[in-house]
Amino acid sequence: MLPFSQYDAHGHLRHLITLEGMTSEQVRELLDRAQRYLRRPGEIPAHGRSLAGITVGNIFTEPSTRTRSSFELAAKRLGADVLNLEIQLSSRVKGETVLDTVYTLQAMAVDVFVIRDAEPGVCQYVAEHVAPHVSVLSAGEAHLSHPTQGLLDALTILQYKGGFRDLVVAVVGDVRHSRVARSAYQVFTALEVGELRIVAPDALMPDEGEMPEAKRFKTLESGIEHADVVMMLRIQKERMAQAAIPDAHDYFARWGLTKQKLKLARPEAIVMHPGPMNREIEIASEVADGPHSVIRQQVTNGVAVRMAVLETVIENRNRRWSPPR
Ligand code: ASP
Repeated sequence: MLPFSQYDAHGHLRHLITLEGMTSEQVRELLDRAQRYLRRPGEIPAHGRSLAGITVGNIFTEPSTRTRSSFELAAKRLGADVLNLEIQLSSRVKGETVLDTVYTLQAMAVDVFVIRDAEPGVCQYVAEHVAPHVSVLSAGEAHLSHPTQGLLDALTILQYKGGFRDLVVAVVGDVRHSRVARSAYQVFTALEVGELRIVAPDALMPDEGEMPEAKRFKTLESGIEHADVVMMLRIQKERMAQAAIPDAHDYFARWGLTKQKLKLARPEAIVMHPGPMNREIEIASEVADGPHSVIRQQVTNGVAVRMAVLETVIENRNRRWSPPR
C-alpha cells in the first residue's frame, strides 16, 4: 500500500489532516481563496453554490463551539447539506466499528467528513478507508494538529500585518499540549515568519527537538519583547494529569498577559487567542477585550478559511472524478 497522502494522484488537496510539509504556495492559495469570502462587518456574508448537492458530516467527539459552528456555516453558505453527529470514534479506531459508522454515513451520501477527536490517528484512519470521492477534514486531532486553525491564524496575521517575513511572532503558554501551536508552527515556518518564538514554562514546553526552527523563551516578559504578534494559548487541562495542572493564581501572575506586560511588545502588536479563553488565567480581560485584540476577527476568519478548504477539496474532486451515469 502507498504511504498515506492527503493529496490525490494529481497532487491536489483531497483531505486536510495536517499543515506539515505544505509549501507557502499551497498555503497562500487557500488564504487567497479565503480572502474572497471576507466581508465587512454588517455586510451580508459571502454565499455561493459551489457545494450545492454536497453533504458535509461533522463528527465531533470533543467539545467545540467555534470550529463546529464555523464548519457548519461555511458548508451551508456554499450550498451544502450538513449533518452534525456526536458519536464516539476514537475508542474504536482499531476495530471495525469506526468504519461501520463512516460507511453508514457514506451510504447516505456524505461527501466530506469533518472530524474532531482526542485520539491521534483517527482522521487519517478514516481518510484511508473512505470511497475515492470522499474527503476528510481534521477539525482538531489530539494535541497534534488543527489545520484550519493554523490557516485562520495565518490569515489574521496577513490581514493586520500584510505579510510574515519581517515579523516576530510569539506563541505563548501551554505549547506542549496544544494542537493550535503545532499547526501554527507548521504554517508560520512555511510562510517564513521572520522570528518564531515559543514561550512557556519548562513543564509546558514541547520536547527538545520538536519545533526546531522556533526560539525558546522561558519567561513571558522575554518572549513577548518587541513581538509583532502575541498568540496566547489555553492550558489544555484535559491533556494533563491532575497533579500537573498549574495553580490558576500562580499561572496568571507569571504567565497571564496583562495590559502592563503587553507594553513590552511592539506598540502596534496584535494579540490572538484560539478560544475558548480562560480569562484571568492566561489572558486578562483588559487585553482580551482591548485595542490590540484580534480574537473576534480570528473567529470571523475561521468561517472564510473553512469555506475555502471545503470548496478546494470539492473542486479537486470534480477535477479527478465524475459520478457514474
Ligand atoms: N479550540 C482550540 C482547539 O480545539 C483551542 C483550545 O481548545 O484551547 O484546540
